Amino acid sequence: MSPAGSCVFCKIAAGEIPATVVKRADGMLAFKDLSPQAPTHLLVIPTTHVSSLNDAKDAGTLGKLLAFARDIAQETGIATKGYRVVLNTNPDGGQTVFHLHLHVLGGRPMHWPPG
Ligand code: AMP
Ligand code: ZN
Repeated sequence: MSPAGSCVFCKIAAGEIPATVVKRADGMLAFKDLSPQAPTHLLVIPTTHVSSLNDAKDAGTLGKLLAFARDIAQETGIATKGYRVVLNTNPDGGQTVFHLHLHVLGGRPMHWPPG
């Protein structure tokens, strides 16, 4: 089986497993994180499988992903007060799902440094 074939986020993108989808457009998808770490905690993914930032060869996709996260922050009402976009990469970065995704967190003040 290909990596994409067993990938939980590919299955969400294909509608094969349930998720609370917030927005889908232009090859991007935003849905609620199953284990929210803030009042608003969304994941933004390209619907085509890319394992991690290290494997993201297409700068256009990365730009669209970031713009999509910015738009979703505006549309969910967290942009003015502020929010955090997180991209965990590989084990030391805290990545547990190996399909490229941005976390969009907001609705409370964030702390720094991260753990
Ligand atoms: P990361 O640790 O950066 O790879 O983040 C993976 C995120 O995916 C975690 O915050 C999980 O809570 C979230 N997650 C895992 N499975 C699902 C799922 N089926 N639906 C929604 N979020 C999920
Ligand atoms: Zn995938």
